Amino acid sequence: MSKHTIPTVKLLIDGQFIESTTSEWRDVVNPATQEVLARVPFATADEMARAVAGAKAAFATWRKTPIGARARVFLKYQQLIRENMAELAALLTAEQGKTLADAEGDIFRGLEVVEYAAGIGQLQMGELANNVANGVDTYTLLQPLGVCAGITPFNFPAMIPLWMFPMAIACGNTFVLKPSEQDPMVTMRLAELALQAGIPAGVLNVVHGGEAVVNAICDHPDIKAVSFVGSSRVGSHVYQRATQAGKRAQCMMGAKNHAVVLPDANRQQTLDNLAGAAFGAAGQRCMALSVLVLVGAARDWLPELVARAQTLTLNAGAEAGADIGPLISPAAKARVVKLIGQGVEEGATLLLDGRAPTVAGYQDGNFVGPTVFADVTSAMRIYTEEIFGPVLCVMQAATLQEAIAIVNANPNGNGVALFTQSGAAARSFQEEVDVGQIGINVPIPVPVPLFSFTGSRASKLGDLGPYGKQVLSFYTQTKTITTRWFDDAASAGKVNTTISL
Ligand code: NAD
Repeated sequence: MSKHTIPTVKLLIDGQFIESTTSEWRDVVNPATQEVLARVPFATADEMARAVAGAKAAFATWRKTPIGARARVFLKYQQLIRENMAELAALLTAEQGKTLADAEGDIFRGLEVVEYAAGIGQLQMGELANNVANGVDTYTLLQPLGVCAGITPFNFPAMIPLWMFPMAIACGNTFVLKPSEQDPMVTMRLAELALQAGIPAGVLNVVHGGEAVVNAICDHPDIKAVSFVGSSRVGSHVYQRATQAGKRAQCMMGAKNHAVVLPDANRQQTLDNLAGAAFGAAGQRCMALSVLVLVGAARDWLPELVARAQTLTLNAGAEAGADIGPLISPAAKARVVKLIGQGVEEGATLLLDGRAPTVAGYQDGNFVGPTVFADVTSAMRIYTEEIFGPVLCVMQAATLQEAIAIVNANPNGNGVALFTQSGAAARSFQEEVDVGQIGINVPIPVPVPLFSFTGSRASKLGDLGPYGKQVLSFYTQTKTITTRWFDDAASAGKVNTTISL
């Protein structure tokens, strides 16, 4: 394809999908083939300002749109996402690389948030206390904030944008979304469907770009709240810059998730779960299990786990039977390969080396095969860094308490899983482990939208999680109103001299 025939990704400003006037563009590339699928613009400062201005203008009417009318948009939206699932998944796989089954999962987990957003009226109700003083009532209103913004990562280009704008908009806010510049196409298709579902002009805007656009979001005085999902390095910067500018911010960031296996666990189930959670989606999940702590005799399970990892099929995500697709970019592959090399240099035992896989028909793909290190220590780079590839670091502990100490000494607190048949061990684990999301015989415990995503410690900045009940507090402000109504006839001639209630 010549440069001229490559499609461009549009900006969504004030209800219009427009071509950017920027001179800075980046290719969106299929990670299995290196085919250029589209070119994405880095929006100019003026385009960014127009997106915020459009959102601000739309807020004046959207905030007063009745709850039922807002809900019906999301009822329609969930239907449109379902109807277009296959097309969305194919687009997602083409630009992100994950298997079609994983792509459908990515979209489905976002769809669940859209369904939840349709019921927001149930949660956006205030409280009322009758007769807090003589003839006085106090009640609260949970009102939308205004323009809110979201900044999203490459690894879940459907689910994570859908964590954000449906919840914010259902609460009566308007939104500016900045998707990952690495795979913005499925996000744009979701934005098109959102408009088709009835989201009015200006209520949802999408700008593309990198550091400059993100900084503009953090600084813009008309943006009231920023939700970020991505790496710890960028998330920490966004949190500081956005809160410095007086905004609410929530930043869900990097991870190093441990799986702890007790010898009484169900062996087959546990090994299957571990292989899927460590290597699935090529390890590019913030909830991937990237460290395995085998307790006591569970150490003997390692050869079987390695054998299972060897059965996983590496292939382009669109190919039938693929278990693991490519990494997002050649740079991501180079980084993972380098980290594996450092693990070897630092003395970890490389039981399975995925650095040079062959994938028939896709020799240019960014593939890394399942990789397993034993004898990993907490000082090694492969342990201290989030690898974000299909690499499992295996450690050992003599007791459950020792395993918990390993988990708690790691600065990250995104997810953790325990495999056991013992209720007592599970209960002790959930009490003692200092991690936001805990799976008991559940490898990737991402909460459904009835709950919120609750990463903790170095994996999160900000008090409130995305989606679920917590996000309602994030996207609304509480007004507390205290009222007294005078009955003219009854109070005629009486003077009230008190200053308190
Ligand atoms: P990233 O931090 O590189 O990018 C995230 C967003 O920030 C993108 O929109 C990107 O354009 C923007 N960005 C990149 N560099 C920037 C800079 N210098 N200044 C300002 N903005 C910048 O993250 P990624 O590589 O796209 O995603 C992978 C990371 O996201 C992993 O660390 C993963 O653990 C994390 N993640 C966390 C969660 C969670 O819920 N905790 C979920 C998914 C992914």
